[in-house]
Amino acid sequence: MNFKELNVIGPILKALEKEKYESPTPIQEQAIPHILKQRDLLGCAQTGTGKTAAFAVPMLQLLSKKGGSGKGNRSIKALVLTPTRELAIQIYDSFRTYGQFTNLTYGVIFGGVSQVPQEQVLRTGIDILVATPGRLNDLIGQGLINLKALEIFVLDEADRMLDMGFLNDVKKVIRQLPAKKQTLLFSATMSPDIMEIANSILVKPEKVSVTPVSSAVDTVQQVLYHVDKGNKKELLKHLLQDPTIDSALVFSRTKHGADKIVKDLERANIKAAAIHGNKSQGNRQTALSNFKNRVTRVLVATDIAARGIDIDELSHVFNYDLPNVPETYIHRIGRTGRAGLEGTAISFCDFDEKPLLKDIEKLMGKKVPEVKNHPYPMVVLTPAVKAEPQRPANPRKNSKAPVQNQPRAAGTRKQQQKTHCQ
Ligand code: AMP
Repeated sequence: MNFKELNVIGPILKALEKEKYESPTPIQEQAIPHILKQRDLLGCAQTGTGKTAAFAVPMLQLLSKKGGSGKGNRSIKALVLTPTRELAIQIYDSFRTYGQFTNLTYGVIFGGVSQVPQEQVLRTGIDILVATPGRLNDLIGQGLINLKALEIFVLDEADRMLDMGFLNDVKKVIRQLPAKKQTLLFSATMSPDIMEIANSILVKPEKVSVTPVSSAVDTVQQVLYHVDKGNKKELLKHLLQDPTIDSALVFSRTKHGADKIVKDLERANIKAAAIHGNKSQGNRQTALSNFKNRVTRVLVATDIAARGIDIDELSHVFNYDLPNVPETYIHRIGRTGRAGLEGTAISFCDFDEKPLLKDIEKLMGKKVPEVKNHPYPMVVLTPAVKAEPQRPANPRKNSKAPVQNQPRAAGTRKQQQKTHCQ
């Protein structure tokens, strides 16, 4: 199967060829024909599967056949709603890449930055808008965006949208959309909450799904170290003395934490760099290419920054902090051991993280083998804090801090009800 056989039109084929996409990924093969037939779609797929092109390519095709809006005409014809700035920029870049030989125009809006440049782009007239929900509602409220002429609506990463407390914002956006439109909903997991949204916004949807990376559970060698929070950095430096660790991706829960880990490693003469949402695009690209070229041995990332990043030859993944959502553990460890290479996932677990470990082991249906004999065994056996800080109902309203790294309580009901696609 190639893109031509999926009836993708010349200008888009040319862009895909330029990108060196030889054949469609499974989600693209399944989704593109349905979307071209203007059907609603429920897609169960995560970032990294080629999901963006699966919706962007047919959307570009449908809209370019009608002709772009032209300058000054503000009728937005397609809206992609996605939870984070990082994803919004990635999706916008994808539209620009795949649509570079069409006459369509694109815009991206997200919070945390001045809205003035975004207003200017909107004024020039755009066909396809990629947005995060908060800023979109702000601009709609100010009368700067009108979605009455919308033809295609994409709700991307619906599960993450709910995790981040954006449900009300999403519902508010949906109320602005015309009743008659094509709707595509993508989510990495399908919980009852997601199905409820899907049922309320999709009309006789086609369903497509791709297998999650759960096979990593069996192929990647996993090990666990119980260690005190304050000793994690020492343990990391100790383990990195092993010269067989060529390249390590270290996951930190917070951006600040990622920066601290890098500083600490550099003090020990271990070449490291961080990628997260506070770094500029250029900065992240440099960090990534240095890592890929083996200039930097350790890349420290937050989950959101690591999403969608392709690193094929990765020998080790470190869970410096355990993730709050157990599925994230599987996605993280699936980043190593690709293409037949040996892969090892090393997890640190402090006393407060024990419930998170329990959730992960429950999801995998097996225990992570523990290394008991190491120089920094856990000695603190009481909680460091009385309770994990709870995520506010709407983080945007209560805090200026970006929401992506706010901790959430482990083992909530909704989390346990989540299921993979298949
Ligand atoms: P996504 O899941 O949309 O974030 O895509 C993950 C990565 O796969 C991105 O780097 C895309 O550029 C790349 N990609 C998407 N579709 C294809 C394809 N058909 N062939 C090769 N690479 C692709």
